[in-house]
Amino acid sequence: MLYCSTRGEEQPRPATRAVLQGLAQDGGLFVPAAPLPRVALEPLLPLDYLQRAAAIIRPFLEEFSEAEMESMVRKAYGGGAFRHPSIAPLHRLDDRLYLLELWHGPTCAFKDMALQFLPHLLNAAAAKTGERATAVILTATSGDTGKAALEGFRDVPGTRVIVFYPEEGVSAIQRQQMVTQEGGNVHVAAVRGNFDDAQAGVKAIFADGALADKLACRGFKFTSANSINWGRLLPQVIYYFSAYLDLLASGTIKAGEKINFVVPTGNFGNILAGYYAARMGLPVGKLICAANQNNVLAEFFQTGLYNRNRPFYRTISPSMDILVSSNLERLLFELSGRDPAQVKEWMRLLKEKGAYQVHPAVFRAMAAIFWSDWAGDDETIAVIGRTYREYGYLLDPHTAVGKAVYDKYRAATGDDSRTVILSTASPFKFADSVARAVLPPAQCAGRSPFELLPLLAEATGAPIPTPLQKLEQLPVRHRTLARKEEMPKVVLDFLGVN
Ligand SMILES: *Cc1c(COP(=O)(O)O)cnc(C)c1O
Repeated sequence: MLYCSTRGEEQPRPATRAVLQGLAQDGGLFVPAAPLPRVALEPLLPLDYLQRAAAIIRPFLEEFSEAEMESMVRKAYGGGAFRHPSIAPLHRLDDRLYLLELWHGPTCAFKDMALQFLPHLLNAAAAKTGERATAVILTATSGDTGKAALEGFRDVPGTRVIVFYPEEGVSAIQRQQMVTQEGGNVHVAAVRGNFDDAQAGVKAIFADGALADKLACRGFKFTSANSINWGRLLPQVIYYFSAYLDLLASGTIKAGEKINFVVPTGNFGNILAGYYAARMGLPVGKLICAANQNNVLAEFFQTGLYNRNRPFYRTISPSMDILVSSNLERLLFELSGRDPAQVKEWMRLLKEKGAYQVHPAVFRAMAAIFWSDWAGDDETIAVIGRTYREYGYLLDPHTAVGKAVYDKYRAATGDDSRTVILSTASPFKFADSVARAVLPPAQCAGRSPFELLPLLAEATGAPIPTPLQKLEQLPVRHRTLARKEEMPKVVLDFLGVN
């Protein structure tokens, strides 16, 4: 399988090159150049997560042997980093509705599903291509990617990791997770502004040829751990299949029965993996894109207008506080009939006017599989409380946005197909919002999120995930604060290049 750029100006190249490079030189994103492989479900039924993973992603990574593939998968998912034997278990809420828990990894958010795998893929790709340069993993984070990248790459030979997070845009627990990160090859810096500023700063560094040349002379080469990297998306396809297979294996659904997936969405990476899964033959009814008050995507799927000219809100689901969803470009490429000229035109309009409108045929194609709406913070808190009272189950705020939007979908369409909500974070990672939703106000008042962890555990009987238990006591190791324009300097300083 070869990979081409969504903007059409790069020679197709093998997966190893595409993942080492991260972003295409023409500013586009790498996508499979050939139609996606079809996956036969039947043979995967008796397999475990690791075996299913190897079988599903192997056709995308043809340069690797079966043994190499299995080794990567084993290091990612079989080495004890995940606290649940099923890796991504389903939790049944009722007959119709299931939660796919994607947060049993080391950082308690779904980013681990991909970022525990990516370092092994990059290492194997570097070995295969004879790449000697040290890979500099440059990442902008809305909170969860940064920590997951740091954990995935810490002390991985041949790599350095630099994470930029928006100073004001992450939760207290997310910040503490990042600034206490250990590892000899890691660096963390806060950036003044919001996630879009941090992401724009990282994209500018990637596009800076002079900087790249300077670093190349010193043996460094940038790559990305954001979901703009194909190696991030691919492992996310696996759990859509595993969820379906688990429902099939338990007799909950019949072979061929279509199910819906609800995905709390920010940068559009997670739900795009679901779209790819559907294109690979997974029986998917609707992909329900759940947004928070930063509701660009909800408007886009309802009207065909993508318009980032609007206020940016800081919400209680910070990992979804995004106005420019990078991965949408990959969907647009597919929906436009793989027309790079069209994609470039939309991206030009987005850059110059902050908005573009797709034509009716494209809109019809997206409406056939996507449905979208959004929920504000008050609704999110109410849903956490209601779900806890009805089912005794704690939702984190991102997953709760998913549940709120699912309720709207049911009410609007009457569709009662079996549905899986992707649960993207542990409720303990966002203890303050969750506590506010389920504990009496007097119990929460004046307490830090760290103080709320044991109260939540006690009230609900759910254990605090081990990585969060001692977090507050860890020493702070990273204190850099930079303006967006200073980001290149932060990179050079950390790498010791001047
Ligand atoms: C990253 C993240 C999301 C959004 O996922 P995208 O792939 O960026 O759309 C949702 N919830 C949580 C908890 C996240 O960390």
